[in-house]
Amino acid sequence: MEKPLALGIIGHPIGHTLSPIMHTVAAAYHGIELSYSAYDVKPENLSRAIDGIYTLSIDGINVTVPHKMAVMEFLDHVDDEAKIIGAVNTITREKGKLVGHNTDAYGFITSLKENAGVDPKGKWTVVYGAGGAARAIVIGLAMAGAERITIVNRTESKAVRLAVDAVQVAPDTTTQVAGADTNKLFESVSTADIIINATSVGMGAGGESLPGVERINENHLVADIVYSSSKTELLKQAEKAGARTLDGLWMLIHQGAAAFRLWTGKSFPVDQVREALVSKF
Ligand code: NAP
Repeated sequence: MEKPLALGIIGHPIGHTLSPIMHTVAAAYHGIELSYSAYDVKPENLSRAIDGIYTLSIDGINVTVPHKMAVMEFLDHVDDEAKIIGAVNTITREKGKLVGHNTDAYGFITSLKENAGVDPKGKWTVVYGAGGAARAIVIGLAMAGAERITIVNRTESKAVRLAVDAVQVAPDTTTQVAGADTNKLFESVSTADIIINATSVGMGAGGESLPGVERINENHLVADIVYSSSKTELLKQAEKAGARTLDGLWMLIHQGAAAFRLWTGKSFPVDQVREALVSKF
């Protein structure tokens, strides 16, 4: 008898993760025997956790905050897209070696195309954030042919680095950085087709908001990758302004779908997975 596929996720904290639900639903749909465990791994134990994955013959692992960047040095190989993004969210075992991938860019771009009906090719975009998820989204937008990407981040140096990296990937894409409260920021938001929140703002803590979002209007598609049981403040505000909206659950589902395909070669039943996630909120 074939042994069940051993999968899991490492992060810290990890209690909130929805990944076990997604992969269990997908495995049941295909009749695949699978165990998917959530492991709380403190940063100081990351290298030992990766050794454990290797020696215990775990077949695949998702990686979440705060390990997406730090994990790269412990892997045998990291694929080109994950290297450009600078973060790994999925580990596969190939001929015994641990290989790092990043499925967040695919997840976001697929949610844009399939769930909002918008192809980023030729579009003007504003991305808030320059952390791990924002890096995947900006690189994904550049690779998908976005014409202009404006990056807005609290720590401006990270935005500048990301803008430079995106142009390396897609020289035809124009990237720029806009700081808070500048005309450039207001002009960028007003003239954009797509506005994306890829910061942690909106998770509920602190009631912070993003600079420039008061310029959102009915011409915009507004995507918030933060997912929560109710609509985020940004999406509520965007709806009020008449904009179309896209929630972060779709990105989560499509990045999971790409990981599942890497591990099993099979597709995700996306509607069933979404239904299962929504019922858990
Ligand atoms: P990260 O690497 O820690 O980056 C966090 C980002 O948020 C940085 O740009 C940071 O700015 C910014 N930020 C944090 N607090 C802020 C504040 N008070 N004001 C302004 N900016 C603030 O985290 P990440 O992995 O990119 O994740 C970001 C968010 O995306 C999280 O909510 C995560 O749950 C969500 N996410 C969703 C998906 C999905 O599939 N839907 C996938 C990945 C992540 P600085 O650079 O200035 O610190």
